Amino acid sequence: MPDTSARPDRPDRPAAGTRAVGPLRVPPRVTPLTRAFWTGGERRALLLARCQACRSWLHPAPQVCRVCLSRDVVTEQASGRGTVASFTVNHQQWNPAGQVEPYVVAMVELVEQPALRLITNIVGCPVTDVRIGMPVRVVFEPLEDVWLPLFEPERPA
Ligand SMILES: [Zn+2]
Repeated sequence: MPDTSARPDRPDRPAAGTRAVGPLRVPPRVTPLTRAFWTGGERRALLLARCQACRSWLHPAPQVCRVCLSRDVVTEQASGRGTVASFTVNHQQWNPAGQVEPYVVAMVELVEQPALRLITNIVGCPVTDVRIGMPVRVVFEPLEDVWLPLFEPERPA
């Protein structure tokens, strides 16, 4: 078979001389409702909305509790621990700056509450190691004036 590993028309293979890059990061638009979520990472805190009437965790943050319709919704710190509920591995080159390095886009369910989920990346391990049900914990990646909540495998202390 001919060697096609360096062909620029094969987006699944880095062409010779190109640079591997991670996910294309576009900073989120921060609003009063989302500011705590996007900036808590500066203090290593995963901050989520929580209803004070029924104690439900709520993400994305609403103005009114989706469970009991209370307007008494405030920000509280979650543990930052969860499990991978679902995931996919991206190979598409969204970033024009270089050849994409495969990365994991995952739905993580937090330990605080069933169905309390967020979309994130799994980092800190090979993409082939990620499994549904894998315990993970939050880590934060700074991007301009926000901190992105990403997750890595939970390792024994
Ligand atoms: Zn409520």
